[in-house]
Amino acid sequence: PYQNFYEVLCSNAKNAPRKTAIFMDDRKISYAKLKDSIDTFAHFLKQSNIQKGDKVAMIVGNCEAFVVALYAITKLGAIAVPLNTFLKEEEFEYILNDCGAKMLLSSYAFAKETKPLLERTKIERIIWIEAPLDENEERFETILATTLRDVEEACEAKLDDTACIVYTSGTTGKPKGAMLSYRNLFSNAISGADSFKVTCNDRFIVFLPMFHSFTLSIMVLLPMFTCSSIVIVRSVFPFANVLKQTLLKRVTIFLGVPTLYNALLKAKIPWYFMWFNKVRIFISGSAPLSEQALNDFGAKFKKAKLLEGYGLSECSPAVCVNRLDHQKPLSVGLPLPSYEIKIVDEERMEVPMGEVGEIMVKGDCVMQGYLNHPDATDETISNGWLLTGDLGKKDKDGFVYIVDRKKDLIISKGINIYPREIEEVIYKYEGVDAVAVIGLKNEQTKDEDVLAFIQPKENVTLIEVELRSYLKKHLANFKLPKHIYFVEELPKNATGKVLKRVLKENVQSGNF
Ligand code: ATP
Repeated sequence: PYQNFYEVLCSNAKNAPRKTAIFMDDRKISYAKLKDSIDTFAHFLKQSNIQKGDKVAMIVGNCEAFVVALYAITKLGAIAVPLNTFLKEEEFEYILNDCGAKMLLSSYAFAKETKPLLERTKIERIIWIEAPLDENEERFETILATTLRDVEEACEAKLDDTACIVYTSGTTGKPKGAMLSYRNLFSNAISGADSFKVTCNDRFIVFLPMFHSFTLSIMVLLPMFTCSSIVIVRSVFPFANVLKQTLLKRVTIFLGVPTLYNALLKAKIPWYFMWFNKVRIFISGSAPLSEQALNDFGAKFKKAKLLEGYGLSECSPAVCVNRLDHQKPLSVGLPLPSYEIKIVDEERMEVPMGEVGEIMVKGDCVMQGYLNHPDATDETISNGWLLTGDLGKKDKDGFVYIVDRKKDLIISKGINIYPREIEEVIYKYEGVDAVAVIGLKNEQTKDEDVLAFIQPKENVTLIEVELRSYLKKHLANFKLPKHIYFVEELPKNATGKVLKRVLKENVQSGNF
């Protein structure tokens, strides 16, 4: 029934004005108060000549202002562009120039990287969040305290307008802006709420970066849709604080990524967390969850379910999830209601059930396209079907299994080798903390070599010959890594995904 985010919020503010929308630190913000702040900031944006279709960039860490800004920007029909706050100055510059934003909202903590952007991009004005009082800057908090509230309830945005532009994380190249409409994001919220049986009594904890499409859609927009509450934590570190907030605020839904679940499994969790936490669902997405982690999790947290899902920014992002009443270990679940999935070969013809091919997705989640990249859009979407770049298979019940990223596939002597299969075997080896397997072209043999990068657990020294004899027992000869590198820490992005591109570059430039 809704056309845009603002209408959802108005409905919550009307029906449940005193209900807490956001918990942060010691503060509680009701839906009525949240709407007031949104109306105020929207008024300021309007006075600042932000109009329908304008892009407003956000380099904002996790805080209430993120939510206020997102809703205020979209109230005017403008487009929110939340950037990955972990990027460096040149990367910010690239994205800001690509999207052409004129205004930037920046957390003051990133001032060093963001201030120079005034000179190097079309940004004319920066509004600072959490800037010190004595700074002679335009402060978000001062604006909220001194601007008159916009009493206009009308919202410019329609269902098929672009709401947000989310840049792909760039693990495989230059970031591209996926344009997501209200229809795209609503479809994810509705389907997600249905799959996890979310009610207004649920509380979501948001400690992963809010700019990331998974967090944005599942942990920020979905809870507002169901009139639930979100508990905002600034950062995943210190992790003890995430656990403390989970317990204190009686969180029921917890979204994490595999690296985090691995850390959770290793952590010495206090007994009271095991007994008194109210989490009913732990969700894992964004990267493969190892079989080992899934099994260990089940043994450790008997009460709650760990449900794996799969998605990509271009699909708003959730595509498949395991449901409470319908799940299969190692699979990423069934497509969300009303989405279709097919597995295709190089000619984009469907392959028989159980065979590996590239995953294609159709449904309301499929993005409108890449901003400024019509060719890339045409290569990615045809007749409503989006090519994901991921390899997978379907079983007889329609459950989807992610095999690997197509770009990561290793082809050696004409045989396909899936790095993930090798990674799964290495994960099971005692003392391994994290692993990444890549293929690298060998200029002499013109074939791809299998390389394994292993991060041992703290204070563990792994012996290569012993590891190799274990691998020989579990893997065919052609899958055995040609080189094994032991590293202190694998390079990861903001959501803990291993940056295989960086590993490749490091080997090529002789850094190993
Ligand atoms: P780029 O496209 O620039 O490389 P990215 O792919 O990391 O960035 P995201 O949209 O953040 O951008 O991530 C989506 C990708 O994450 C999917 O295409 C898939 O490869 C991977 N992924 C997501 N969930 C899972 C999962 N449960 N298991 C395996 N891989 C997953």
